[in-house]
Amino acid sequence: FTHTFDTPSYKGTATVNTGLFINGQWVDPVEGGTIDVYNPATGDVITAISGGTAKDVDLAVDAAKKAYKTSWGLKCPGAVRGKLLNKLADLLEKNIDEFTALEVLDAGKVYDKAKLQDIGGAITVIRYYAGWADKIQGKTIETNDTKLAYTRHEPYGVVGQIIPWNFPMGMLSWKIAPALATGNTIVLKPSEITPLTALRLGDLINEAGFPPGVVNIVNGYGHTVGDAITHHPLIEKVAFTGSTLTGRKVLKASAESNLKAVTLELGGKSPTIIFDDADIEQAVKWAAHGIFFNMGQACTAGSRIFIQEGIYDTFLAKFTEVAKYLGATTGDPFTIGTQHGPQVSQTQFDRVMGYINSGKEEGATVHIGGARHGDKGYFIQPTIFTDVKPEMKIVQEEIFGPVCALIKFKTEEEVIEAANDTIYGLACHIFSQNLSRALRVTHSLEAGSAWVNCSQVAEASVPFGGYKQSGIGRELGEYALDTYTQVKGVHINI
Ligand code: NAD
Repeated sequence: FTHTFDTPSYKGTATVNTGLFINGQWVDPVEGGTIDVYNPATGDVITAISGGTAKDVDLAVDAAKKAYKTSWGLKCPGAVRGKLLNKLADLLEKNIDEFTALEVLDAGKVYDKAKLQDIGGAITVIRYYAGWADKIQGKTIETNDTKLAYTRHEPYGVVGQIIPWNFPMGMLSWKIAPALATGNTIVLKPSEITPLTALRLGDLINEAGFPPGVVNIVNGYGHTVGDAITHHPLIEKVAFTGSTLTGRKVLKASAESNLKAVTLELGGKSPTIIFDDADIEQAVKWAAHGIFFNMGQACTAGSRIFIQEGIYDTFLAKFTEVAKYLGATTGDPFTIGTQHGPQVSQTQFDRVMGYINSGKEEGATVHIGGARHGDKGYFIQPTIFTDVKPEMKIVQEEIFGPVCALIKFKTEEEVIEAANDTIYGLACHIFSQNLSRALRVTHSLEAGSAWVNCSQVAEASVPFGGYKQSGIGRELGEYALDTYTQVKGVHINI
């Protein structure tokens, strides 16, 4: 499928193979059909891609297993793996506008932000792990003078990777880069809703020179391809990012099949806490970024905003202005100046509108927003709820849209308890100029990521993952290397 872009942000074409990428070749599914891909800004079908089945996963695993044994894993020096990853990052950088345009077309992201954060971020992560590829080291362990012990960090072999639609290239890079750096081969399933950039990447994998079978990309639905990956007896580890509901299924499938190692990056209902000694302008700016970034479709979205009573009214007034500005700059994500785009799909649009209606029904006040924007595509106005109660669905459940609940609080103790009153534990945001207080609160919150006086900052070198029902394991940083290797303890008699 070739798409010609003639937009204010990008003029050019993108050509994407819509088949399955197995053993370095584009192939049709053994059986199975096609899946329509939509432009969320218009609701129009862009193209149809192949949807695989378990039979295609079998072929991909065979190719990955063969590649692991013959040309990757411990057969390929780390320096070579790093060089290929760097080549891949260079190729992505060379084609950054095309990748950005595809991501905007497919996921509805705002162009400039997608270029910087999604594709730019993916390049950074791939380079970061390229640097690690020749630094995977064990330890020698002193026992006594007639024995030597040491550890080796060995790859799992074939790993399965399943990603969601909200950061297609971002999540892809967090998955493939550490897995390849440590010597694993991959069977990757992109989200069926946003497959285009992952498919385009297949061509770059070949162009960079990765041996055939090292990376295999099998598109399809969760209940077909996803289910086959999680049950496959020759896949030794599965890394999953998506909803908590599906995460449970992944863990169950691993238990029922071959007890594969599992890392899960799941949902969230993250608190943003603003104390009355915060720099109010900064707090407003970052709290707005925390919830409205990517149209609220971020697992770490700061969707519960707790504000200390002394600054509540001032915060609300200033925060409302930001929501108004975003509302006024909502529109075509390719248009320069657009700040707020559509939700990714009709399903997500319906889900978010369903939560907005439930908030109204449960007695919360829509302070601003609360409605569709325009008459085509899946746009929803930035929405602020006030007069909320802790038990309301909009306070307890992940909405995954541009919708937040504002909650007034009095004391530090009270807000810590309220912030932790959730099944999730992915992230938290704390605003205060009192460093002791900011750190005290940060350490009391049950969350894998904490942002103090900022929000939604991801660094390739800093671990990311969830407490409680937000996940198991960590991605990014040196920590991710451990989740893609198993440790062998070797004992030698001297
Ligand atoms: P989802 O769980 O519906 O789907 C995620 C992926 O899993 C998709 O590729 C889907 O096809 C696949 N899948 C679905 N059913 C499956 C099954 N039975 N077996 C195997 N795979 C299956 O989630 P989504 O709607 O694509 O993404 C939104 C969710 O992802 C939100 O809950 C969000 O919080 C979460 N998320 C978490 C992180 C994180 O790092 N913690 C990052 C991004 C998104």
